[in-house]
Amino acid sequence: MRTHIDGGWVVAFNGKSHEVYEAGSVVFEDDRVVHAGAAYTGPADARIAARGKLVSPGFINTHVHTAGNAGDYLLLDMAKNDYRTSNYMSFAAPLKGKMTPPPPQAVAAIRTFVFLHALKNGTTTIIDVGGLRGDWDGYAKLVDELGVRVYGSPPFRDRDTYMDAQGRLTYDEDMAVGRERLKEAVGFVKSFDKTANGRLRGMLNAAQVETCTERLLREGRDAARELDVPIHTHAGGNLIEFQRIMGEYRKTPIQFLADIGFLDDRSLIGHAVFTGGHPWTGHPFGDDARVRAGRGAPIGPGPCKHAKRAMTLRSFQRYLDAGVTISLGTDTFPLDIVSELRWASILAKTTDGNYQAGQHRDVFNAATLGGCRFIRRDDLGRLAPGAKADILLIDLDHIGAGMYADPIKALVDTASGRDVHTVIVDGKVLVHDGRLARVDEAEVYAKAREATRHYWGNVPNWRWDGAGVDQIIPPAFPLHRAD
Ligand SMILES: [Zn+2]
Repeated sequence: MRTHIDGGWVVAFNGKSHEVYEAGSVVFEDDRVVHAGAAYTGPADARIAARGKLVSPGFINTHVHTAGNAGDYLLLDMAKNDYRTSNYMSFAAPLKGKMTPPPPQAVAAIRTFVFLHALKNGTTTIIDVGGLRGDWDGYAKLVDELGVRVYGSPPFRDRDTYMDAQGRLTYDEDMAVGRERLKEAVGFVKSFDKTANGRLRGMLNAAQVETCTERLLREGRDAARELDVPIHTHAGGNLIEFQRIMGEYRKTPIQFLADIGFLDDRSLIGHAVFTGGHPWTGHPFGDDARVRAGRGAPIGPGPCKHAKRAMTLRSFQRYLDAGVTISLGTDTFPLDIVSELRWASILAKTTDGNYQAGQHRDVFNAATLGGCRFIRRDDLGRLAPGAKADILLIDLDHIGAGMYADPIKALVDTASGRDVHTVIVDGKVLVHDGRLARVDEAEVYAKAREATRHYWGNVPNWRWDGAGVDQIIPPAFPLHRAD
């Protein structure tokens, strides 16, 4: 079936870069684009009117956690009253043996919510860098049913993190457990890579640079190369990790990963904020940007999440100028990749004190072309004949957005995920008129809300000091809850 998207601002790819056509057309047949650019006058079986909308390639979100992005975000970003239990430590370092895994229906509810929340906000390729343990057959089934495009597998590590009763962070090393988890991930990739009409693809996830031994990182990298899939790890995301790696290997996390052969054009490094030369590290030595550029290793920052934790890349522009491939991820709530364009652009400017840094085209490229390289896809992140029909229609013509001359600048400066009108993945319309086409949104939300409440209610049971969510993250004002 041939569908004609007619009359919008079309972002077409000319083989080297994006260019924009006013009153242009995109035509796709089944799952592939057959035309993108100037107005199309040929026959079509269906027509989608796009006047007043940006017709954009779908965005690649290189930092999604199907585990934590429903309920953990609250703990993740806000628990700043105690740095040692902030970030992922806030939920991934419980008292030993006290955290029970959520029931399967809660896992499914949270995964469904995260996939669809990301989709509705403009993500058409979800890079899942660490999901919930358990029921990975169910995960594959969900990807198939929901119609989303996902790269993922169960994350692995061999140093689990705990707090003792005094709130001291401990790392519990068990190499056999790490190997089992890596085996599980490899098994998942072997079973499910290229299933769901090719929308589910395998990638390996070494959880964090400091929660994996050097041996496990090397084994994970070797397994990824053997499977011919990309690999991700978190590095340079917090100071505890930076100092641990410095203490263990006398190197920055990036230099360490480079020296063990982990960094290449198929390894994505989440965050990469704390590097040699970053003022917070107190380590005025080395040039991690050049180390990365030399190995073609891309980075996946989450500008909004970083800003919430008072951090930023130093800097977007510097990495760009050094030739580092930059992608964009959302990491924690909200998974709004459209707003992330603005965060990336603005933070680049304030960090460098230069309003010519973080240009609109560069952040748009990061969310499209930049996210495709490490997954080696030249049929995603662009609209051109032969590319996958992963397409967004984003509303620009409304009073809330304002007047504009350049739709890309309007997108970056004014839009958010709530302006996403239509989402097409693999030639299927999954969001229409801002609503999910295949599922009952209210039901998905209610189930995720229930699972999240259950999760929050359990926090005092595994938290080292027994504190509840309202104590860990005090509400903005005194809050009188109904229940
Ligand atoms: Zn993460």
